[in-house]
Amino acid sequence: MVIVNALNLDAGILANVQSFEGLAYIAAALLFILALAGLSQQKSALRGNQMGIFGMAIALVAVITVSLVMYAHDPAMAAILMVVAVGIGGSFGIFLAKRVEMTDMPQLVAMLHCFVGLAAVLIGFNSFFTTPGADTAENAYHMGEVGLAVFIGAVTFTGSIVAYLKLAAKINGKPLVLPGRNILNLAMLIAIIVLIGWFITTRGVDAGIIPLGAICVISLAMGAHLVLAIGGGDMPVVVSMLNSYSGWAACMAGFTLGNDLLIITGSLVGSSGAYLSYIMCKGMNRSIFNVILGGIKNEKVPVGEASEVQHREHTEVNASEVAELLRSAKSVVIAPGYGMAVAHAQFPVSELTKRLLAMGIDVKFAIHPVAGRMPGHMNVLLAEAKVPYDVVYEMDEINDDFGDVDVVLVIGANDTVNPSALTDANSPIAGMPVLRVWEAGTVVISKRSMGNAGYAGVQNPLFFNENSRMFLGDAQESVNQLLRVMDQES
Ligand code: NDP
Repeated sequence: MVIVNALNLDAGILANVQSFEGLAYIAAALLFILALAGLSQQKSALRGNQMGIFGMAIALVAVITVSLVMYAHDPAMAAILMVVAVGIGGSFGIFLAKRVEMTDMPQLVAMLHCFVGLAAVLIGFNSFFTTPGADTAENAYHMGEVGLAVFIGAVTFTGSIVAYLKLAAKINGKPLVLPGRNILNLAMLIAIIVLIGWFITTRGVDAGIIPLGAICVISLAMGAHLVLAIGGGDMPVVVSMLNSYSGWAACMAGFTLGNDLLIITGSLVGSSGAYLSYIMCKGMNRSIFNVILGGIKNEKVPVGEASEVQHREHTEVNASEVAELLRSAKSVVIAPGYGMAVAHAQFPVSELTKRLLAMGIDVKFAIHPVAGRMPGHMNVLLAEAKVPYDVVYEMDEINDDFGDVDVVLVIGANDTVNPSALTDANSPIAGMPVLRVWEAGTVVISKRSMGNAGYAGVQNPLFFNENSRMFLGDAQESVNQLLRVMDQES
């Protein structure tokens, strides 16, 4: 970026401002890395978050100060515009963050990714209009950055909007299977590569706007198509993939603007999002490439045509019977899911855990990697309700132990405890590892009614097993009732 120096600062002061910028960026980047390290464990997650906030505050102060002092033509007007922009954006952010329910977080995150994508597209176009091309190798390189920023940004933008609409159930969650969709994706990708090649060789706005406009339009279509083609059960991976794309979009915007911090931050978000997607794909037994490319493999599995679950008799229990089952158990595992989040049942569940532990019963939590509606959803809720970390186990750590468990309490989980994932090749969740809760002595399932299916839209044969007991009702109300009964009977 060209230094404007509207304040007429002498060269020494300008050099100091530049040093301050470099130092601030290094400090912010280090804090972001420490934030990621902290967020990898429940115990240190709060500290990790604080580091991230601190790093972002340093980055904002540095960017605003340096932009005003060195690059603004009219620093006073630029300051006013920045205050207005930060005021509007900040108030909107605070308003949304205060209002949003924990269960709606994935939609919010998808919307936020779409803003990052849009920002990358706008920065790309702005950079093109302000430096539309000269006959130098450096400029060709810059045009390549612009083309990539618009490509990744536009894919992220429409992909995130479609993800938002699917997660908020504003459009059908079933995969859109267009004829020859893989060839269509490949054709769009090849067209974009060719257009970027053409764009790099153009000079001037008139010549460059045609390939750049075409890159933008095709990328917008590609982002929407990629996410429309992905089925409901694979949406968790889509959310984390879009998180990764938004990081790469920010990274490309950083190259376009020549901003090192944006490049570092974008790479951190991009690579951590990609790694999270890989972990989630492993947890769901999906190939990451299939999910990125809109689920090529799913073409063979007609989603929604899972084999009929036989509706046999189910057995219902009341709070007194559940209390009795728990009292006579030596070991209890609680498997929470999305329903616990909706019902805000984590607090009575935490209280129940304390009481059972005090009675000398071995209590553990079993957490499926995609339980709830966002990565780590259950861990966040349990931490919020102060459930001790050492009784919370990931699926891989506990799945082989269910045979030795007396009672499993399933609180609002469905797909993640559905045995048909392992037994029905036609199920939309076929092949996804699930918590094998049915191997325990008795399984008590808390849900509101027998009519509703889980997120993937399939019925669950677990509910009709001989050792299953349906504890019907809102999870918070049911667990509170259980606590009251335990109080009365103690
Ligand atoms: P599911 O969405 O499969 O099932 C939720 C269960 O909770 C249902 O049985 C529902 O039954 C019950 N429930 C709803 N409200 C209440 C309530 N107030 N009280 C008691 N029960 C209630 O949940 P899982 O956590 O098992 O699975 C998560 C699913 O979401 C997976 O398919 C996953 O792929 C998908 N997903 C996950 C994301 C992630 O990042 N983790 C993101 C996007 C999707 P009823 O209505 O009868 O009460």
